[in-house]
Amino acid sequence: MTTKKHVVVVGAGIIGASLAWHLTRQGAAVTVVAAESGGVATPNSFAWINASWGNPEFYYRFRHRSMAEWKRLAAELPGLPLSWCGGLIWDLPPEKLEAFAREHSGWGYGVERVGAEAIKAREPYLATPPDTALLVAEEGAVEPVAASRMMLADAEAHGAKVVTATVNGLLRSGERIAGVVTSSGMIEADHVVLAAGTGSVPLAASAGITLPLEAPPGLIVHSRPFEKRLTGLVMAPGLHMRQTAEGRIVAGSDFGGADPGEDRQAVAAELFSRVRQAISNSDNLAMEFFTVGYRPTPADGMPVIGNGGCEGLYITVMHSGVTLAPLAGLLAAREILTGEEDAALAPFRLSRLL
Ligand SMILES: Cc1cc2nc3c(=O)[nH]c(=O)nc-3n(C[C@H](O)[C@H](O)[C@H](O)COP(=O)(O)OP(=O)(O)OC[C@H]3O[C@@H](n4cnc5c(N)ncnc54)[C@H](O)[C@@H]3O)c2cc1C
Repeated sequence: MTTKKHVVVVGAGIIGASLAWHLTRQGAAVTVVAAESGGVATPNSFAWINASWGNPEFYYRFRHRSMAEWKRLAAELPGLPLSWCGGLIWDLPPEKLEAFAREHSGWGYGVERVGAEAIKAREPYLATPPDTALLVAEEGAVEPVAASRMMLADAEAHGAKVVTATVNGLLRSGERIAGVVTSSGMIEADHVVLAAGTGSVPLAASAGITLPLEAPPGLIVHSRPFEKRLTGLVMAPGLHMRQTAEGRIVAGSDFGGADPGEDRQAVAAELFSRVRQAISNSDNLAMEFFTVGYRPTPADGMPVIGNGGCEGLYITVMHSGVTLAPLAGLLAAREILTGEEDAALAPFRLSRLL
C-alpha cells in the first residue's frame, strides 16, 4: 500500500486555495494552515482575469492558458462565481492602444476594434463613451474570496484539513524542510508550500531563503448594490470598473487600483465621485466601502513558482494571482507530487531573481 504524501499549504487566499484543491484532487493528504481564510491580498483585488498589458510573449501565453484553466476549473467545480463579461479598453494613448491590439491579436488574443455605435450598444450607461476602443470578449472576472472559499470547501470535502493558525517558522530535518511550527503546534509534512502572499517573505527568510518581493498598494472602491449599469469590464483612462453579480460597482483608478497615499478616505471619495460621473443615471449610487490591498509582486513582476531552494519547500507567490490561480495550482501540484519539472514553469523559478 502506498501512503499519500502529506503536503502543508501555508495560505488560504486564491493561490493557497487553488493549490489545496489541485493537490487534493491529485491524491495528496493536504493540510492548509492560514491566519486568514480567503486571503489578505485576495479580498482587496480588482479580480480581472486577463492576458492584457505589456507582457513578454511567454508570460502572455502563460496568462492566456490560465484563462482557459478557469473554464476547466468551473466545469469541475460548478457554481464558481466567474463572469466572462469581456473588457472594453481605451485607457492608453491611441498609438499605444493600437500597438497593443496588433501585438496581442498576432498572438491570438481576441482583440476587436470597436467604434462609437458598438460601444454605446454594449455600455449604454457610459456618460462620455469614447469614439473607439478595444473589446476583448474573452476576458472576465471572478469574485475571488467566494471562489477561494469554494475551492477550500471542496478540498475539505475530499479530505483536506484547514487549520486557522499563524505559521511562525519552518521545521527542519537536516537539510530538508519537514513541516511548520504554528501558533497551535507543529505539523510535519513531506512538502511545505508557501502560498502566503507577502507573508511568504519572512517564512522563506526563516529558512535562509531570500524572496525578492515588492508590495505596491492599490485602493479599490465598492458601491452598494445598484441596478445594472455595466455590461463588462470598463478600462477608461484612470478609471477601471466592473459590476458584480450582486450589483456592486467595483473600481480602481488604474490597473486594479493605485497607491492611495496618506489620506485614503479622501482618495476613495474622489475616486467614487469619478465613478458616478462616468456612469449616467447614477444619482443614488453610493459607496459602501473601500479597500487598500498590497500586491505580492516578485521583483520582475512575474510569478515565483517552484522549489524554494531547500528540499521539501515549494514557493508559489505572484501578482495577477487571480488570473493565474488555476494554472499555477494545477502545475505546481503536479510538480510537487511527481518531482518532475514542468517546462511551462521554467521561466518562473526563484533562481532567476537571485
Ligand atoms: C488592489 C489590487 C488589485 C489587484 N487586481 C488584480 C487583477 O485585476 N487581476 C489579478 O489577476 N490579480 C490582481 N491582483 C493580485 C491578486 O489579488 C493577488 O496576486 C492574489 O490575491 C494573491 O493571492 P495569494 O493567495 O497569493 O495571497 P493572499 O490573498 O495575500 O493570501 C495569503 C494567505 O497567506 C496567509 N498567511 C500569510 N502569512 C502567514 C503566516 N505566517 N501564517 C499563516 N498564514 C499566513 C494569509 O492569512 C492568507 O490566507 C490585485 C491585487 C491588489 C491588492
